[in-house]
Amino acid sequence: MKLCSACLLGINCRYNGKNKMNEKVLEIAKKEVLIPVCPEQLAGMSTPRNSAEIVDGKILEQDGRDMTRIYMNGVSEAMKVVEMLGVTEAILKQKSPTCGCGKIYDGTFSGNLTDGDGLFTKALKQKNIKVVSEEDL
Ligand code: SF4
Repeated sequence: MKLCSACLLGINCRYNGKNKMNEKVLEIAKKEVLIPVCPEQLAGMSTPRNSAEIVDGKILEQDGRDMTRIYMNGVSEAMKVVEMLGVTEAILKQKSPTCGCGKIYDGTFSGNLTDGDGLFTKALKQKNIKVVSEEDL
């Protein structure tokens, strides 16, 4: 069973109230079951919401508000879906502090990237679940 970032399927769940619909992900969804999950919405946060980035291992909004606990709550909820449905692979949205896989924003809110994984990607990898980004497809 495969899971994907909900925003890649066109769900308007991003911090700015928009999506990142990806044609390649849509094509996969036409052929097999892809479970759309947005850990940030599962955390109970509103959409739109403030953007956040990983800074020294914490999730911070631009004004310095520490959102780590709330984001981790969302990851925990998403991991319930993973375990309940026996997810073995995930296609996640690159650069996000939650779903980023290999590349994330560098914590300066300047659009620059650095190597790293988002919180959800880390949790999946700890369970030996294969994670790829939409850019890897
Ligand atoms: Fe997309 Fe993941 Fe961000 Fe939700 S948390 S908007 S699924 S990248």
